[in-house]
Amino acid sequence: MKRREEMTFLEKIYVVEIFKGLTITYGKLLKNLWLHVLRALGCKTSEAPGVAIQYPNQRRAYPPRYRGRHRLTLYENGDVKCTSCFLCATACPARCIYIEACEHEDPNVEKFPKRYEIDTLLCIYCGYCVEACPVDAIRMDTGLHPEVYPADPRLFIEDKETLMERSRILEDYGPERLYDMHMKRMQELEKVIL
Ligand code: SF4
Ligand code: SF4
Repeated sequence: MKRREEMTFLEKIYVVEIFKGLTITYGKLLKNLWLHVLRALGCKTSEAPGVAIQYPNQRRAYPPRYRGRHRLTLYENGDVKCTSCFLCATACPARCIYIEACEHEDPNVEKFPKRYEIDTLLCIYCGYCVEACPVDAIRMDTGLHPEVYPADPRLFIEDKETLMERSRILEDYGPERLYDMHMKRMQELEKVIL
């Protein structure tokens, strides 16, 4: 591609370019307004008007493969499925999973994580940990965005209990309740910050 080095006289004085920009912006605005009015009056239009989503209070439905925040899956009795094999931590390119393995008092049970932590400030949400897990103990199917915590990096480390609690809420109340709780925390934090 040949790059044009010099601006023309009309480009140099900017006025024409500003006018062109405003024409595009207001043209879109008026067209959108017109389409909304027609729809409100019950007319069918071939083109749908543009709609702004008031994110984060509104959101589009995420596809099932959306990689959200992590959770540790549980057995029916509430025990964590993780066997502390370290495969997720080994696969993690950001090195943000910390596991401390522990022997279970029941000899029939494999090891379990005494500590399992994810530093969400380092995580790049690649999903390699989920792929690596041989027992489906970690998932990213919560539909949640990365959490925003108060300005202390230590608070961004999500521990085993937090990751297990997400599974419990998902199981008991479903993904919408999990998202509502997440949004409530975000709004409370916003009030503190602003
Ligand atoms: S999503 Fe990727 S970066 Fe985040 S914990 Fe899993 S493997 Fe590590
Ligand atoms: S989450 Fe899965 S891969 Fe990671 S330590 Fe536990 S069992 Fe192993």
